Amino acid sequence: MDSDKQRVQGILKQLGRAYPDAPETYLDHSNAFEMLIATILSANTADACVNTITPELFSRYPDVELLMRASLEDLIGIIRRCGTYNRKSSYIRDSARLIAERFGGEVPKSMEDLVTLPGVSRKTANVVLSVVFKINEGVVVDTHVMRVTQRIGLTQHQKNRKKAERDLMALLPREQWYKYAKLVGAHGRRTCNSRKPECDACAVKDLCPSAGRFT
Ligand code: SF4
Repeated sequence: MDSDKQRVQGILKQLGRAYPDAPETYLDHSNAFEMLIATILSANTADACVNTITPELFSRYPDVELLMRASLEDLIGIIRRCGTYNRKSSYIRDSARLIAERFGGEVPKSMEDLVTLPGVSRKTANVVLSVVFKINEGVVVDTHVMRVTQRIGLTQHQKNRKKAERDLMALLPREQWYKYAKLVGAHGRRTCNSRKPECDACAVKDLCPSAGRFT
């Protein structure tokens, strides 16, 4: 555990050097409402696909008041090309209604409140809290963070993101939780990709027990 605590600091240092331009998020948005809706839509869907549908969605429904009154048929028409549109159209409309009814029209700033909204998982809430409100409530474990975290040996959990998140929260000081997700997410997208990780070019190969296993 202590050696992992030391190792993860080395990993963060190296990844910080490798990806000084790592973005806070890959989802286009201009306020908390848009970030929340885009994050709900991004569940099991590529961020790039979500970014192709949100310009029309946000231009037609720029706030909770308008979105809560949208017809599901219209929402489905806008978001359908990114998949799971029946469920997600209900999620975003019902979330807008609940935000208006329970939170005065403002996206709530706590994990406890956010996860009461339809389609908002702990991961979704973590993204909104850290990106929009700069609140470190947990570690965002998306598919890229999960894969890299397993490969670099910081969790033994194969698929359980909540348990992997718990492992990371125990290894990292709170102020580094979002930094970890940002840098490791960038690493997963650019180098440690799912099919063919580029171990030879990897900035953390000296700290990774999986280095060279994929050749
Ligand atoms: S050495 Fe390979 S498996 Fe390990 S983090 Fe780098 S790219 Fe991923």
